[in-house]
Amino acid sequence: MSSEKPLLAGVMGWPIHHSRSPRLHNYWLRQHRIAGQYMPLPIMPEQLALALRALPVLGYAGCNLTLPHKTAAMALMDDVDRDAQRIGAINTVVVRDDGTLYGRNTDVEGFVHNLLQAGCPISAGPALVLGAGGAARAVLAGLRQQHCPEIYIANRTPGRAEELAEWFGEPVQAIGWDERHQLMSMMNLVVNATSQGMKGQPALDINLSALPTGAFVNDLIYHPLETPLLQQAKKLGLHVADGLGMLLYQAVPAFAAWFGQTPTITPELRCLMAEGL
Ligand code: NDP
Repeated sequence: MSSEKPLLAGVMGWPIHHSRSPRLHNYWLRQHRIAGQYMPLPIMPEQLALALRALPVLGYAGCNLTLPHKTAAMALMDDVDRDAQRIGAINTVVVRDDGTLYGRNTDVEGFVHNLLQAGCPISAGPALVLGAGGAARAVLAGLRQQHCPEIYIANRTPGRAEELAEWFGEPVQAIGWDERHQLMSMMNLVVNATSQGMKGQPALDINLSALPTGAFVNDLIYHPLETPLLQQAKKLGLHVADGLGMLLYQAVPAFAAWFGQTPTITPELRCLMAEGL
């Protein structure tokens, strides 16, 4: 990368003060001795188009997108990666040399790498996904990509789960929210993609006791790091994967695309990122 170019990236969201991404990317910039900066960018939905178009003018290498911009930003790209089109959302924008904007979704890689790193054999059995928002889309795409044989999705608002099952097709199947306990005894993996269990929110209403020994429980939430769901899973002797891993792994390909170097996730970095969670 030319040294004359300012090495800038950031994360657009509204609100954005809670984001841990600046801490993460600025750590890697220091570690790789890259004289760059990753900024929190508070952008209201109505300013999104203007803000994205300003990236090349301001010399940004790109940015991440978080709530509520992941879907709306797609239409504002010059080009969108095929996987991201399939998911229907982007979380990473890369400014190409000609100033055009390329959108991709690294949440899928983040979700998959986190589970594989935890030792979860995704293709070995059925998975139950709870929630049908933006994060659930990345989860379904990741499970399909890893050849999960049966994928069940349950959501408080059933229509949204049905919509996603239709969007992704086989082997994704929607089940009613009240049916979420009925299939528990055959699950290899349960993923919480709802907001329940986040700091300030009630715990997810679920009983994991029928899960088979050896099953995995993954919570996408990382604040707190150990959610009531993961506490319950640990008490039952099940395998767990927290949400911080997904956050860390989704950032690796984004950093590499902007700054030309592939960063690593070390225990020291995990500790730094977990501080205060
Ligand atoms: P959305 O707002 O798009 O979706 C929220 C989901 O939670 C919906 O399915 C919603 O159901 C469900 N929900 C809300 N309240 C309840 C309730 N009382 N009971 C049951 N279900 C409920 O959020 P996202 O999909 O973007 O994010 C979901 C979670 O994933 C968040 O906690 C987020 O922090 C986390 N996340 C983590 C990432 C990581 O890197 N670790 C990346 C992205 C997200 P309904 O449709 O009925 O409203």
